[in-house]
Amino acid sequence: MRIVDISLPISPSLPVWPGDPPVRIEKLSLISEGADANVSQISCGVHMGTHVDAPSHFIDSGLGVETLALEVLVGPTYVLDLIGVDVIDAGTLREAAIPDGVERILFKTRNSMYWAGGIQTFQEDFVAVDLSGAEWLVEKKIKLVGVDYLSVAPFDAGVPTHQTLLRHGVVIVEGLDLSSIEAGWYDLACLPLKIIASDGAPARAVLMSE
Ligand SMILES: [Zn+2]
Repeated sequence: MRIVDISLPISPSLPVWPGDPPVRIEKLSLISEGADANVSQISCGVHMGTHVDAPSHFIDSGLGVETLALEVLVGPTYVLDLIGVDVIDAGTLREAAIPDGVERILFKTRNSMYWAGGIQTFQEDFVAVDLSGAEWLVEKKIKLVGVDYLSVAPFDAGVPTHQTLLRHGVVIVEGLDLSSIEAGWYDLACLPLKIIASDGAPARAVLMSE
């Protein structure tokens, strides 16, 4: 079996959403300074790097990330190549060759090139799903949608896309690096940290194929 890591590397140079805290990793104790063990402390927002959004991210009474079903976070997944697309709207999805029976879908866009290129500044003009695209995904009974930048929604229109997906129980995975992934079927395993009542959590995500 081939396993490809599609998670972003976590370090202080990882770009974060404007206004979110940067990633900090500090050494609390060091063997080289006489301690018995090396121990680090990390501080960051929960929507950092590759991460999963919980319903409570955009719905005040919504559930936390620990309630998301593992049966949705793990399973057959289709990677759709949308290189060349600027907005993922209903028209784009309708015309795309999405096979029948898809329940989990990841969108590979030009965003993945930012990760491949090691760009460390936040990009505002990333490719995202607009409201019509979110409504299309709900209508098609998609259970999980993954994107290759830090938000599923356009930079200046975060609420409609997130609310539509989260209200209908669609799991959102953000911050994937799909630069080395070709379109097609895989098995996804995406496991967000079990942070109780959190509106999101960092995750390790891999795609498996025979
Ligand atoms: Zn998020």
